[in-house]
Amino acid sequence: MNATPEQAPEAPVTDLADCVLCGRPTEYPETVRGIVHCPVCEWQEAQRTACSG
Ligand SMILES: [Zn+2]
Repeated sequence: MNATPEQAPEAPVTDLADCVLCGRPTEYPETVRGIVHCPVCEWQEAQRTACSG
């Protein structure tokens, strides 16, 4: 048997930046400068800017 686990079942412990809106961990590392949004808030922001008026 030569099973090579590609990835642990649990998410790797990496320092992710917190969303500036809801505080949830984003997909971006903490090394990212500036404002970061989690996927949810990112989508909501996109919707906002989509209908600016
Ligand atoms: Zn968020």
